[in-house]
Amino acid sequence: MTDLTAHPALVLNADYRPLSSHPLSSWGWKDALTAVYFGRVDVVAVYDRTARTAGGRLIPLPSVVRLRTFVRPRKRVSVTRWGVFTRDVNRCCYCLEQKPVSDLTFDHVIPRSRGGRDTWDNLATSCMPCNFRKADRTPEEAGMPLLQRVYEPSQADLYARGMEFGVHRDVPRDWISFVYWAVPLAE
Ligand SMILES: [Zn+2]
Repeated sequence: MTDLTAHPALVLNADYRPLSSHPLSSWGWKDALTAVYFGRVDVVAVYDRTARTAGGRLIPLPSVVRLRTFVRPRKRVSVTRWGVFTRDVNRCCYCLEQKPVSDLTFDHVIPRSRGGRDTWDNLATSCMPCNFRKADRTPEEAGMPLLQRVYEPSQADLYARGMEFGVHRDVPRDWISFVYWAVPLAE
């Protein structure tokens, strides 16, 4: 028996756009089948794999499902490590060098010790050397101005950045058209 956990279903909103883009909305196959069973979603595409129901019936695993009821997307994007890196396209805000995520950290522009908080406009992607050099100082004190703006991105911003940066490159084949097709043009 192959591993069924490797078959997540992309979850689309009723308008065929992914329910969320960061991270990309997906359900495990059990949740997807349950939602199909209860009529909450329609199956848009299936994997070449089946699962056996309690009744012994073989059903194909959904690879893309679509909600029957439109869910209004959240306007504000919650602050995540991944979101900050994606907004900054993995580029250190102090030296503009682009690095793999494993070589990045995030910096509190106003240090936490001075009351700086975990907010979009106070978190900047930083490489380790810059983070170390800046230490517990403000950009002014450290003589290290922010070279790219830190701001609260919209879902659309993050989505566009993610696309540009190819963060969705390793998705299942069936997902591609929805992921790429759904790039918001404007918001
Ligand atoms: Zn740097």
